[in-house]
Amino acid sequence: MAAPNTSVPLLQYASYAWDLSIVPRANFYMVTPAESTYETLKEIPDYVTQSVPFWFTLMFVEHLIARYLGKRSSRINDTFSSIGSGMIQQMTRVLLLGFELSLYQYVYDHYHLVDLPWDSRWLWWLCILGYDFGYYWAHRAGHEINFLWAAHQVHHSSESYNLTTALRQSMFQGFFFWVFYMPLALVIPAPIFKIHGQFNLIYQFWIHTELVDNLGPLEWILNTPSHHRVHHGRNEKCLDKNYAAVFIIWDRMFGTFEPEPKERNVAYGLVYPLDVWDPIAAQFHYYQYILTKAWNAKGLSIKLQILFRGPGWTPPGEEVVPIPEVQYPVKVFNRSLPTLLLGYLVVQYVLLMPPYFSLMDKGIATLPMWLGVSYVTFTLTCMGMMLDHKSYALGIEVLRCAVVLLLNTHPTAIGMVSTFFFPAPLKMAGMAAVGASMLLSLALMAHRASGGANYWEKAAAAKKVQ
Ligand SMILES: [Zn+2]
Ligand SMILES: [Zn+2]
Repeated sequence: MAAPNTSVPLLQYASYAWDLSIVPRANFYMVTPAESTYETLKEIPDYVTQSVPFWFTLMFVEHLIARYLGKRSSRINDTFSSIGSGMIQQMTRVLLLGFELSLYQYVYDHYHLVDLPWDSRWLWWLCILGYDFGYYWAHRAGHEINFLWAAHQVHHSSESYNLTTALRQSMFQGFFFWVFYMPLALVIPAPIFKIHGQFNLIYQFWIHTELVDNLGPLEWILNTPSHHRVHHGRNEKCLDKNYAAVFIIWDRMFGTFEPEPKERNVAYGLVYPLDVWDPIAAQFHYYQYILTKAWNAKGLSIKLQILFRGPGWTPPGEEVVPIPEVQYPVKVFNRSLPTLLLGYLVVQYVLLMPPYFSLMDKGIATLPMWLGVSYVTFTLTCMGMMLDHKSYALGIEVLRCAVVLLLNTHPTAIGMVSTFFFPAPLKMAGMAAVGASMLLSLALMAHRASGGANYWEKAAAAKKVQ
């Protein structure tokens, strides 16, 4: 990107600012083909990772505005859970993207129907629609086929609806969504496909808010906060509606559109709420449910139908359980922690950022990278256990801290993993913080063992709030 020329300073600086603003603009799909067309896959920036600071800024601003207006704002336990799910999903995305793009490139190289230039403008525009059409059907399958819903339900597991909810994503969803995009490989070169994959994903961040009301004529064409609030509803008339990513036209065309009620009284979350904060539990609980149900069912046909029909399907002969009616005022799950432990969790999330971003930067292909993924996932699980008041959480936390200290100091392990735990300038500070965390966890365990106050029970257990 060239530095501004001073001959026409104002215009040059405006142009420079426009170039610099591509990440926030891309979050609203306000990008032109000229600035986002690339000849090769390697040249394409990772706009998803680059959007993270922008997302955190918006989440913070949304929280402040909601509090100022006296509206529902984000909750720290729900936010931790959503960010944890997002981190797990992003690590899977980095891993899968190579596979998906390689397959896409292979199909394009061997089976594409027409030779079209990589910098074709109309192809760029066609891909916006093509990718979004693929997303509509992938998302619809994610709701209407039970074993795919087992993955996608993670995104719907929050009873809150705010920007943090957008980050709550499934680590398994990427394993099947790619199938729906493969027909595009018959026409559209991989770089155009990849860039629209990113834009289509990050567009869906801003629509997760209650602060934006009806957007007038835009509601006819675009997917908006209003339309997507309905999608996250657990009221019966909201189920399986508004599958769109960018354009709501697909729902209007295929009969799945539902406007938001004027009263704005949609209740969010799963029909049967999850009631845990552990992001790993959120990823696996529905798989456990349907696999157990299929295992116990009689006959192969019924077993397969449990997996492949919709989540609401009931085997013949079983009593049909109606969708539970939403009770107003809506109560949401909220298990609180004392301030000391919440502060502890904030520190642990901060300590997790250097290894996490290092992993995202390097990609996940080697043994050290897999160890890094295991470390991040294990840490998120420990944090989830604390949020869920598990009696064994402190013991596991002590173990986790000990493993981190060992891996950062052991002469064999250090060469393999230390590069992504704490970068050199922060190494001593990071180690000191982990050591202090371990001592604090041990002190809390000793305090409880000697009959002291139970920090979990001291917190208001499973307090239900509006
Ligand atoms: Zn959905
Ligand atoms: Zn959503």
